[in-house]
Amino acid sequence: MTIREIRLFGDPVLTTRATEITNFDHDLELLVQDMLETMDASGGVGLAANQIGVLKRIFVFDCTKVEDGLRGHIINPVWEPIGEALQSGTEGCLSIPGMSIETERYETVSVAGVDMHGNPVAMVASGLMARCIQHETDHLDGVLFLRRLRPELRKQAMKEIRQAAWFQADH
Ligand SMILES: [Zn+2]
Repeated sequence: MTIREIRLFGDPVLTTRATEITNFDHDLELLVQDMLETMDASGGVGLAANQIGVLKRIFVFDCTKVEDGLRGHIINPVWEPIGEALQSGTEGCLSIPGMSIETERYETVSVAGVDMHGNPVAMVASGLMARCIQHETDHLDGVLFLRRLRPELRKQAMKEIRQAAWFQADH
């Protein structure tokens, strides 16, 4: 297993749509292992393949810090909200280090996809896991959570990013 480099805001791979996975081979199993290890090493709750420069529709998650939280991966995820209730809470992203910002998401969603063997997986999730599903699937669509912020918070976030050492080192 290998800890992969996490791509940071400004890398075009983060604003590119990832493509559906159709090959369920050993390389895919290795990708899942690397992604889990990279997420763990960074202390993240989720990691999408774009974030390590791989444009495939897969993300890993670890919500075991909350009660009944799950750990795993999902491939070719498709989600939809259940009900209209929203949750508000702080959200961060491994590709935008050091920022934690109030972000509105659906409280409960259902998600369907497949696992690394191509077997169907589906679940209904609330709270942190629901937030994770929405955040990570956004990544696979080339969307960062900044796009989900209220305009004034987004403006402030962009200002902080431009001033951040990691961003200035890259640009
Ligand atoms: Zn993220």
